[in-house]
Amino acid sequence: MRFECQKTGVCCRSPNLLITLTHFDLYFLYKYWRNDLSKLLTAITFYVIADEASASHLVVPEIITKHGNAVIALKKTEHGSCIFLSANNLCEIYRARPLTCRMYPITFVPVNDSNQSHEKKDVQKKLVKAPIIVVDAKNNIRLQPIYAKAATKTCRGIGKGNSIPRSLLKNMANVFFHIMKDYYSLIGTINEYISEHGYLEPIEIINVIIQYVEQKALEKVPIAEYLNNLRNFSF
Ligand code: SF4
Repeated sequence: MRFECQKTGVCCRSPNLLITLTHFDLYFLYKYWRNDLSKLLTAITFYVIADEASASHLVVPEIITKHGNAVIALKKTEHGSCIFLSANNLCEIYRARPLTCRMYPITFVPVNDSNQSHEKKDVQKKLVKAPIIVVDAKNNIRLQPIYAKAATKTCRGIGKGNSIPRSLLKNMANVFFHIMKDYYSLIGTINEYISEHGYLEPIEIINVIIQYVEQKALEKVPIAEYLNNLRNFSF
């Protein structure tokens, strides 16, 4: 897979790209703003998923809210740009930018996922020459890096520059897998609580998420080591 960012800012301006956030993204932003929860809350929103077709393109888990199932993402301007894109096409939160931005235009799909394979066949046949990466040998979980569908339509850096090193793709696949596995488990627990006890306010959900990551980081449980890897991503 070849990619070299052309620094056009097209991806950050695209109304079709949702900058979804993982629990670690939320935590990084919270720390980046020196534990200012109100600042974090003004930067994010819960996007309600309109239909199943929209949901099929999302890699983050859905949270039950009183308005419907939703994902947490960065806010956008009325024109569809990320609110953190500056006038000169720079990211104002570059050091704390989310995983989606760090990995862009790449995402990972399970090799046996029939929907995604179909998407790959149609859109990406000529673009992808990527290795299948074993991220969990015990459970035979294998991921393949692909270009995100929305990126194939807008990103001018795809196919330019050098090939992305296999070692970087492998590292990314591992981080992606472990973060998503952990995030799905956390949101699953939150959704179970909501189903039993009723809806939570957004601030309550964010608080639970931040406390969860903080606790993991403090306890230095294995997932915490992925935090460091995540910070090193750069194309
Ligand atoms: S957070 Fe930064 S890199 Fe990500 S979409 Fe916004 S401006 Fe672009």
